[in-house]
Amino acid sequence: MDIGSYSYEEYLRLVESFHNYAAPGVLLGGFMVDLALKGLPRGILFDAISETPKCLPDAIQLLTPCTTGNGWLKVLNLGRYALSLYDKYTGQGVRVALDAARLDARPHIRAWLFKTRPKSEQDSQRLLAEIRSAGHDPYKVHPVRIPVDRFQTKRKGKIGLCPLCEEAYPLADGPICRGCRGEAPYETSEDFREERRPPLKALPLEQAVGKKSLHDLTMIIPGKSKGPAVFHDQPITVGDLCRLQTMGRRRIYVREENPPHPDWVHENEAAVAFAEGMVGEGVGFHGPPQEGKVNFAAQRNGLFWVDERRLEQFNLVPGVMCACRKGYTPVSEGRQVAGTRAIPLFLPKDHFLKAMAVLSQGPLFRVLPLRKARVGILVTGSEVFDGLVEDRFIPIIGAKVRHYDCEVIQAQVVPDEREAIRKGVLDLVRSGADLIVTTAGLSVDPDDVTRQGLLDAGVTDMTYGAPILPGAMTLLARLGPVQVIGVPACALYFKTTSFDLLLPRLLAGLTITREDLARLGHGAFCIECKSCTFPKCPFGT
Ligand code: ZN
Repeated sequence: MDIGSYSYEEYLRLVESFHNYAAPGVLLGGFMVDLALKGLPRGILFDAISETPKCLPDAIQLLTPCTTGNGWLKVLNLGRYALSLYDKYTGQGVRVALDAARLDARPHIRAWLFKTRPKSEQDSQRLLAEIRSAGHDPYKVHPVRIPVDRFQTKRKGKIGLCPLCEEAYPLADGPICRGCRGEAPYETSEDFREERRPPLKALPLEQAVGKKSLHDLTMIIPGKSKGPAVFHDQPITVGDLCRLQTMGRRRIYVREENPPHPDWVHENEAAVAFAEGMVGEGVGFHGPPQEGKVNFAAQRNGLFWVDERRLEQFNLVPGVMCACRKGYTPVSEGRQVAGTRAIPLFLPKDHFLKAMAVLSQGPLFRVLPLRKARVGILVTGSEVFDGLVEDRFIPIIGAKVRHYDCEVIQAQVVPDEREAIRKGVLDLVRSGADLIVTTAGLSVDPDDVTRQGLLDAGVTDMTYGAPILPGAMTLLARLGPVQVIGVPACALYFKTTSFDLLLPRLLAGLTITREDLARLGHGAFCIECKSCTFPKCPFGT
């Protein structure tokens, strides 16, 4: 029984010299690679995927030209004992996996695979004997096709020197290397040091007259006021002394004449650098920082947008902070939306660079303008069409869109018929609507044919159902550039629904994906207060 071009014994010795001992996994892997090789056409160039990082990659490296070093072997930890070999260009190949269904007669291999016996109780001799006698039998083999583009090695681009570790790294990774950004596993002595202290000079108050304070000194009169009593970089006067004494200050940090230490960044310098990195279109700030902090304000009316993932990354850097309002909140011009600062008076330079590395990938905040949509309303319902029930939907939706300066250009009532709905939608588009709000007919009732009618009209990208209460039966779609939103009948009863959460996003031109909706679920449960205070309410945030 051969494995590749080796006899079983030769392969066993190879494993012992490469892997240090005859590991059962590498021996099983030998048969698996052999099966995969037999399933490939002769003479092709192939790549390999191992679905586990344990043992199997070594069998692949011993028996094929594919190694992790040359990039032809990829290890994807899917946690399965399986491998694939496939044509480098076409992606056609063979997957081989240990077949649990065939292990009933192989108790030792089964116990090894499912780890039902501790390693110390494992009978290695009998396990190895069973692996050998099982030969090529306990595996399943089937053809696969791998999307080769996904695994092409990306070119590294330009290489630069990391300012923190002074080692070479791809500049595409940002202003510092990935290792220094926190991805390296090494603990440094610095991490253990309790607190690093910048070289600061503190003077007793009476000696500080004429010197410049290193930071704003805040005076708080409880319940009355909070503000700087002494400003950063301003000479301290005799008059300041009295105030500082009443604030309980005995000593004060003053600016030294020699230039600032290169390993430390002053809080004001840090706050301004952070602010410049954070602001995107529609968000601004006025310098200089107040008490070390920079606040941001909306520069126009619109929808506040936050890169939540990178905000979190920024706040994970020690010694810095940024707090903001919830993303997707409509804001008006001039309203404050966020603030940032360094926590210590002097921030260690490496923490500063880490924070800046997070900000190098684009702004954290934007205020997206809301367009004044031309709204078409399509009410579906035979009972309304026949005049049995008075429509209440058009005035409700009309009031909500007019709140955002949108104009209702046409409203139609059609019966619950696919063709009428199709025609109604196309009529609205023809009359210039760029946002169609449709109603009812979205439940599981057999008479509800709104969705079919919309599809007949040619809508695409339809998402039906949303984790919002009220509003679970919400529908989103588009017809070319025209946005379509289907609002369930609950909008007739509840003051605030999914429509109120989604309308501003639509007006901001955002595509609302299934993932966006899924994220909304956390917080989109209305508690139906007697008097609704939305949007001053946590619904949907
Ligand atoms: Zn580095």
